[in-house]
Amino acid sequence: MKTIRLREGKDRSLLRRHPWVFHSSIAKGGADAGETVRVEAADGRFLAWGAFSPSSLIRVRAWSFVETDKIDAAHFERRVQRAVALRTRLPVASNGVRLVHGEADGLPGLVVDRYGELLCAQFGSAGTERWKAVIADALLAATGCERLFERSDSGSRGLEGLPAVAGWLRGSGATEATITEHDWQLTLDVAEGHKTGFYLDQRDNRALLGRWVRHFGCQGVLNCYSYTGGFSVAALAGGAAHVTSVDSSAPALARVQAHVALNGFDAARSTVVDADVNQFLRDALKSGARYDCIVLDPPKFAPTAAHAERAARAYKDINRLALRLLEPGGLLFTFSCSGGIGAELFHKIVAGAGLDAEVNAAILQRLEASCDHPTTIEFPEGEYLKGLALLKAAA
Ligand code: SAH
Repeated sequence: MKTIRLREGKDRSLLRRHPWVFHSSIAKGGADAGETVRVEAADGRFLAWGAFSPSSLIRVRAWSFVETDKIDAAHFERRVQRAVALRTRLPVASNGVRLVHGEADGLPGLVVDRYGELLCAQFGSAGTERWKAVIADALLAATGCERLFERSDSGSRGLEGLPAVAGWLRGSGATEATITEHDWQLTLDVAEGHKTGFYLDQRDNRALLGRWVRHFGCQGVLNCYSYTGGFSVAALAGGAAHVTSVDSSAPALARVQAHVALNGFDAARSTVVDADVNQFLRDALKSGARYDCIVLDPPKFAPTAAHAERAARAYKDINRLALRLLEPGGLLFTFSCSGGIGAELFHKIVAGAGLDAEVNAAILQRLEASCDHPTTIEFPEGEYLKGLALLKAAA
């Protein structure tokens, strides 16, 4: 077993069970990609077992903080079983559920989503790559599913020195799935869609939007960065007269229209626009359009804290435009999924947007990812999605 010795004083975060060891904390030691290493303090005390990643800034991701643990196939089988068992206890109103959420489930770098009987996984770290076959079998055993598609093609794989791969890991066949979320049905394609095919993290926020569209009697709804229209369907189910969905992905917009039909809504109640959202918002303002409810769910503008400043300007811009486009008394659901932008900073950005727009608004609720995407108290960095449900002041 290879050993990684940390520099003096660099043991603190592992002692708090934070699972990352940065390159700069290591005094000596090395191993192959994904190999299990023993991490010890400068004085030789055991700190953790972890997976080594030679080309990543996060040089070790911890598997366990218990010295007597053995990092073998049985270890991963137990972790997968534990993650799956947790989901069966959570209040998830869908058969689309995140089964494994990386660090929060003791499996750093691994994401697994379940869509009915179809599983889709992202192996995002050298350690999970090394244990891929064991993890794949454990997932099938724990769920009873027979088909597992791999979508290890996100940009972050490059940081780990891993190639992008996508394809069937277990089973084969159609890559389409239909899930029942709350009162509606949504489709996805694990091979073609973004990430693992669908954004499960917004599930609870979609339900809330539907309820509030009904409560406030919103008629005209604008869903920006709509992807396949999860919020659009929620708004229609909530009684909106008309929803405009804006996205720059034509295949996603085709699916919005398919979802409107699938859920039995009149096609006349839905318009899709293939456009850059920022440009769309500017044009809409010029044309005098107004909406009773707007959703802003942009992609990650700040992948890391280093991008926070430029991202902050981009968030402020779209929020300023949206606040102006809202009718007085209108509803805004605004989000950021950037890990580099904390909830407090996001609040400040939206406050700045309100000042610039000369619009006041009440925060009705602070929003986050659904509970099958847990954040653990040991790993607050896992928190990424934050949002505000705002009610624009009446005229
Ligand atoms: N709210 C969606 C998820 C949004 S993901 C849901 O509930 O499923 C972000 C979306 O923004 C993606 O579909 C992506 O295609 C789109 N996008 C990214 N940049 C964009 C831009 N500049 N203008 C319009 N859409 C954009």
